[in-house]
Amino acid sequence: MMNNVSLPSSSEPIRVGFRKTSLLDYPARLASVIFFTGCNFRCPWCHNRELVLGEADDLLALDECLSIIEKRKHLVQGVVLTGGEPLLQGIISELIAQIHELGLLVKLDTNGSLPEKLATLIEDPRTRPDYVALDLKTDARRYNDLALASAQIKAGQMSLCFAGVIQSLELLAGFREQFEVRSVVVPDYFDEEAVETLAALVPEETPWYFTAFAPGNCLDSRWNDILPPDTDYIDALVHLAEKLGRKGLRR
Ligand code: SF4
Repeated sequence: MMNNVSLPSSSEPIRVGFRKTSLLDYPARLASVIFFTGCNFRCPWCHNRELVLGEADDLLALDECLSIIEKRKHLVQGVVLTGGEPLLQGIISELIAQIHELGLLVKLDTNGSLPEKLATLIEDPRTRPDYVALDLKTDARRYNDLALASAQIKAGQMSLCFAGVIQSLELLAGFREQFEVRSVVVPDYFDEEAVETLAALVPEETPWYFTAFAPGNCLDSRWNDILPPDTDYIDALVHLAEKLGRKGLRR
């Protein structure tokens, strides 16, 4: 029997990107993926340009996605909420609760800048994500550069900067194997100095994935001309993390 999944009505219907099935987005699980538009950051290397700027033209109503998920709930094990930044969505708690009611797991991908919202979700078992992937983009010094490059971030909004990300990291420390840290290896932002500075903040048992920056559809088109790091360099960072007692991994 259908549960008639529906979210509280809002003046503007929420439109999202949607992938019915993915083997790549939820570790060891078959999952559907919901991509939210909008982000409070403007990382110049971001490859989700259309989503961040709300210019994607292949969006579906969120209610429609939920109906599809409900009909296919025996074919997937979970739903990944990604973006953009999913925690900017006012309906995020209700959405997670409804997905859980379908008997599905929820993975949340977040840039970590909204620790208060994350804390609210974690407090309630109905809305607590089953797996969280948190971005750790660079060290404190260069997070400030990133904030300055983000038109959305106003001076004094500390929760959008490094302190907020660290609060999120601390909140998630208890998640253990249900939590991963992700760092995109980006020229001038993520290097040996970043790994050495950040290692003390990443829990020892938490997987810390390093992924090469991929030019081609960057938010700032000038970044499309920047060469990505090679595999040897990613591996060198992985080994450095391991040397510092962290669970570094290449993705
Ligand atoms: S990389 Fe992530 S945090 Fe940065 S702008 Fe893109 S979606 Fe937002």
